[in-house]
Amino acid sequence: MTVRQLVEQLKALGAREGGVLLVHTSFRAVRPVEGGPLGLIGALRQALGPEGTLVMPAMTSGDTVFDPRSTPTQGMGITAELFWRQPGVLRSTHAGSSFAAEGPLAERICQPQPLSPPHGRDSPVGRVHHLGGQVLLLGVTHSEDTTLHLAEAIARVPYSVSHPCLVDADGELRTLMIAETDHCCARFRLADTWLRARGQQREGPVGNARARLSAARDVIAVALEQLASDPLVFLCLPEAHCEECDIARASLSTS
Ligand SMILES: [Zn+2]
Repeated sequence: MTVRQLVEQLKALGAREGGVLLVHTSFRAVRPVEGGPLGLIGALRQALGPEGTLVMPAMTSGDTVFDPRSTPTQGMGITAELFWRQPGVLRSTHAGSSFAAEGPLAERICQPQPLSPPHGRDSPVGRVHHLGGQVLLLGVTHSEDTTLHLAEAIARVPYSVSHPCLVDADGELRTLMIAETDHCCARFRLADTWLRARGQQREGPVGNARARLSAARDVIAVALEQLASDPLVFLCLPEAHCEECDIARASLSTS
């Protein structure tokens, strides 16, 4: 697959030139691509054009003190890992949940944010939503969709799990506990059904991957409606014996 072909596919899918695009990706699903993961990044940039802003997650383990210039991402895939290292790409400074962005709105998206919640209104994901951005899932499902964590933060869901994160406080190493709406995220995939029912999810091929594209505002609106009728809609049912969702459920009595 050539970069030019990828650009055509991204445009056909509905990636908006001049827009803000938050991308979650599995390069393994997209490949083979001319130029590898950097070719894919180039195609995303070309599809957005010089007025567009490209955003990717750059989250880290929290096991070491975060340095936006050197700390590798964890579990974000090779495309996101290479993206923040490219010249001209900014990286936000959250100790565990940083994002990287390139383009005219990158500085605004990467501004400092509160530690918790990591994906609240005042976070890179919240700013992508506020700026009318789109969310592209490239070879991954909504279980990787951080915009749904933003919906949980806006809805103030009653569960919260804290994770340790090492920080440097004036030269002294300290472990901070960061509260997140953490669970297995498998039920985030319900968003497929909700968005399709409203015709708010474009789907098609990008390379060998199946891609999903939606407006962040549509994702948030439909998730907030569902959370209003069932605040626990994203947690596996107790009979599923999902360890991560059981921990989230156990937090209900204490939070
Ligand atoms: Zn679960």
